[in-house]
Amino acid sequence: MIELNNVTKAYADKIALSGISLKVEPGQIYGILGPNGSGKTTMLKLISSIIKPSSGRISVMGHDTVSENNFVKAIIGYVPETPALYESMSIREYLRFIASVRRVPREQYQKRSTEFLKAFELGDAYSDYIGNLSFGTRQKVAIIAALIHDPQVIVLDEAMNGLDPRSSKILKDLLARIAERGKIIIFSTHIMEVAQRLCTRLSILYAGKIVDSGTFSELEAKHSEGTLEEIFLKVTGSEDLDPTVNSLAESMRQ
Ligand code: ADP
Ligand code: MG
Repeated sequence: MIELNNVTKAYADKIALSGISLKVEPGQIYGILGPNGSGKTTMLKLISSIIKPSSGRISVMGHDTVSENNFVKAIIGYVPETPALYESMSIREYLRFIASVRRVPREQYQKRSTEFLKAFELGDAYSDYIGNLSFGTRQKVAIIAALIHDPQVIVLDEAMNGLDPRSSKILKDLLARIAERGKIIIFSTHIMEVAQRLCTRLSILYAGKIVDSGTFSELEAKHSEGTLEEIFLKVTGSEDLDPTVNSLAESMRQ
């Protein structure tokens, strides 16, 4: 289980998250939605033990993300928003390196990496330097690196960005299969269709606070609105965008 208890995070005097409490149970696929700057990345970094909360407590499978951060890092696979990979390594070298850090047995590594490369159609790029890869290909490598040790908890920060339709379909279906095995998945996305179809529970962040959460059906019933996009725009105060677009379009004609 992942548990956030009244968590607040400030960067200097900027409060990025405040009073966040939530629970994610094994088998759940938890979606974090919210406009740019609402605190999604901050929340996922806190869960992954990359940064520390200013106050409140976070535990992952019963382990505190501050006092037991090495343990938490070991059981998490994290795909950052902008993955920092080793530019001068080839994909092959990089994945082998990650697998050795993660102590994945050789045979298991061989089997898994072969399957990932096939699924993401990376065979031809295997020897290419990471520094020369396209944005989407880098993203695929970061995803493989996060999943190669079959982590207990998977944290993805806008991981579908840049993926081609085949890879994004494979990733979505794979995440659903992994969750069926009782693992925990939490991710942020701006793709409403992905959130609506894949997530067992959703939270919508706005200015560092959770403004709504629940299953998609619960949110739908509560707001009596059709799509998740409409619910999102409503709870984040962007319901009627016509005047904004009209005056913007007008300003460009002048
Ligand atoms: P999101 O991922 O939802 O776009 P972030 O968690 O990246 O939001 O950012 C939340 C807020 O915290 C934003 O106002 C952002 O500018 C601020 N912020 C994020 N990281 C830092 C940092 N390292 N230093 C100062 N402010 C930051
Ligand atoms: Mg972000």
